[in-house]
Amino acid sequence: MDVSLARHWVQNIASAMSRNQEHLTTLDSAIGDGDHGANMARGFFAVRAGLDSGTWSAATAEEILVQTGRTLVSVVGGASGPLFGSAFRALGAALDTEDGTEDDTENGTELGTGTDHEAETDTDATRFAAALAAGLEKIQQLGAAVPGDKTMIDAYAPAYRAFHDAAHSGADFRTAAHAAADAAEAGMRATVAMQAGKGRASYLGLRSVGHQDPGATSTAYVFRALADATEA
Ligand code: ADP
Ligand code: MG
Ligand code: MG
Repeated sequence: MDVSLARHWVQNIASAMSRNQEHLTTLDSAIGDGDHGANMARGFFAVRAGLDSGTWSAATAEEILVQTGRTLVSVVGGASGPLFGSAFRALGAALDTEDGTEDDTENGTELGTGTDHEAETDTDATRFAAALAAGLEKIQQLGAAVPGDKTMIDAYAPAYRAFHDAAHSGADFRTAAHAAADAAEAGMRATVAMQAGKGRASYLGLRSVGHQDPGATSTAYVFRALADATEA
């Protein structure tokens, strides 16, 4: 991920949150306290302001993502601010250190064709997959939600998996990002049938079933924004 893609990604997220603010509010009103739209719109408005103002040190993709995370943590209250914010910070920090050769544990399951695995993968994409993993880990560490708890994890985890699998089977960044966006949207839709196990919606017990999770919805916007940014 280069600085231009990072910029476009963050700008696309900000537009999506502003455009869909009302929808997120409606979703959060059904199973939460109705502030998710305002939380995301306010957070990414501040992110865009920081990016546009030139006050950020934003010379690299890593810096942009870390600053995005910091801004979300400081500007957005509620559950989603610290969770999204810490995920972006971890993602940016991981991009800074990842050499793209780490998470290769699955190589052993491949049928040996004698081809050089590393040479066939797009290292920009595999590095980003590893950074996405760091973001996901952070959300799970902080929020202790597992897949099926009807949270942002239910969009993020399948998106990460799709990106990772695409990248590790030789897809380029753009293709992997589109696979991730599709998987996030499928995960988002799957939250409708789930009963919430974490967050405010869990207070509703069975009554949370039948509603789409707001955080999974905004997470799907984040991944669609990335796919769209690769087309810019
Ligand atoms: P709050 O619930 O504090 O008002 P938001 O409305 O901004 O915060 O965000 C709600 C979203 O946060 C939920 O829809 C869910 O996706 C996500 N969320 C809540 N708790 C957790 C958690 N423990 N782990 C992961 N995501 C969570
Ligand atoms: Mg809320
Ligand atoms: Mg709230």
